[in-house]
Amino acid sequence: MRPNFSEGTKQGIYASQNGFCAVPGCLEKIVDIHHRLANTKVHQKLYPLFLQSPFNGVGISRGCHQGPEKEQFKITEQQARMYEEYLQKIKDGIIK
Ligand SMILES: [Zn+2]
Repeated sequence: MRPNFSEGTKQGIYASQNGFCAVPGCLEKIVDIHHRLANTKVHQKLYPLFLQSPFNGVGISRGCHQGPEKEQFKITEQQARMYEEYLQKIKDGIIK
């Protein structure tokens, strides 16, 4: 099975958004945690710390997850690399 956000990460994202979809103007509750950078095998290899982290997740309603609205949360691979380096420094104790 492909890795995904942990339950703790999902709950944290849900709580940080008070349970509501992040799309401006949408009043629906969060149903899905969307991967801002797609949850692919290649990305999992390149960004193992970042891909399933809270930085890569945004809570959205089912309707917004199925439509184009989610594209506004997309992040670039350059941004993903910066997050990955940052998370690696935390892991290595360079940043506390
Ligand atoms: Zn929505």
